[in-house]
Amino acid sequence: MIIADNLYELKSQIPNHVTLVAVSKTKPNRLIMNAYDAGHRVFGENKIQEMLTKYNSLPKDIKWHMIGHVQRNKVKYIAPFVSLIHGVDSIKLMNEINKHGIKNNRVIKCLLQVNISNEVSKFGISLNKIEELFNYSLSLQNISIKGLMGMASYTNDKSIINSEFNSIKVKFNELNKIDSNFNILSIGMSGDYKVAINNGSNMIRIGSKIFGERKI
Ligand SMILES: *Cc1c(COP(=O)(O)O)cnc(C)c1O
Repeated sequence: MIIADNLYELKSQIPNHVTLVAVSKTKPNRLIMNAYDAGHRVFGENKIQEMLTKYNSLPKDIKWHMIGHVQRNKVKYIAPFVSLIHGVDSIKLMNEINKHGIKNNRVIKCLLQVNISNEVSKFGISLNKIEELFNYSLSLQNISIKGLMGMASYTNDKSIINSEFNSIKVKFNELNKIDSNFNILSIGMSGDYKVAINNGSNMIRIGSKIFGERKI
């Protein structure tokens, strides 16, 4: 039970207030069930169709996090069950999520994805756009922007990673002071979660360190 061991080891290293999202993208149900049987319930996927297929065939008490880019025309597929959408980066997408929140009679929790490195992702808003999108979201009843998500540059240079995480943390703390419901900072992956936790992360997204390397 390598997956169970990986999970226990990770959990022993991270503080209790940090939520561990087990990133199961590309991995088969069998491996997700290994983590499930070890007591884990929070999983992250980055493709809508893959998440939907897994949602339909796996236990219903799993909390599914959408960590990838979300196309507006696909929001409807995950709106009934998604636990947290990490990659919100436009007003149009917020409007669409809100629309499907209304249809499903639920408030859909989301994070604003911030582009803190210029190379890793072409997605995400710049730091100076956060307030504008957050304030807009307050006019929508069926979406709740709970915090921020970011990815650091793909580098071994910890000082670069540290300064990128620090930039999102400063913004996060500003808004958290104004609104205590804005309380999730999703930063940190297999290679940089320790640096992220040192910068105030309370949600880490870990794939390869739990499930092994991905081929694709
Ligand atoms: C794949 C992915 C992860 C997990 O990456 P690992 O390096 O395998 O831990 C985290 N966040 C996002 C947005 C991802 O796409």
